[in-house]
Amino acid sequence: MFLDRDGVLNAVVMRDGKPASPRRPEEFVLESGVEDALGRLHAAGLKLFVVTNQPDVSRGLMDDAALDAMHRTLRERLPIAEIACCRHDDAQGCACRKPKPGMLLDLATRWDLALAKSVMIGDQDRDMACGRAAGCATIQLARPYNSGAGAQHRVADLAAAVAIILQQLGSSIAA
Ligand SMILES: [Mg+2]
Ligand SMILES: [Zn+2]
Repeated sequence: MFLDRDGVLNAVVMRDGKPASPRRPEEFVLESGVEDALGRLHAAGLKLFVVTNQPDVSRGLMDDAALDAMHRTLRERLPIAEIACCRHDDAQGCACRKPKPGMLLDLATRWDLALAKSVMIGDQDRDMACGRAAGCATIQLARPYNSGAGAQHRVADLAAAVAIILQQLGSSIAA
């Protein structure tokens, strides 16, 4: 299970009318229901990975210490196996910045994951493109700023995404 961070696990910060990442630990607020939702996936035996773009580090708008503090909070409160984080901006041409699938491919190699049986959950269209490029199923959380383009499922919230995953897990076990 691959989870985008901003807009999925924690609330986005709106800047200039666009959803953006928190830059200071005080701005980092978990969405309600996230602990319960991830707890249910974890209890079902799924490994949970966070895959997040944080270009504000390269842009000089956020320092590594602030980002590390936010990720410490995530690891303390949620049953996450690993947080993969791209700190680059477009100009650096890295292989990890979503919609490129680099973070998913790397995690799959190191954790021996079957990408065809994995799911990418995100809010942005680029999360869906990233999941598709890696060969995963895709679920988008519907927001005013996204379109559903290219997503296999579009649902209201993380709890609804978890329900789909647990249902499919149940049917594949039954089959
Ligand atoms: Mg996001
Ligand atoms: Zn990168």
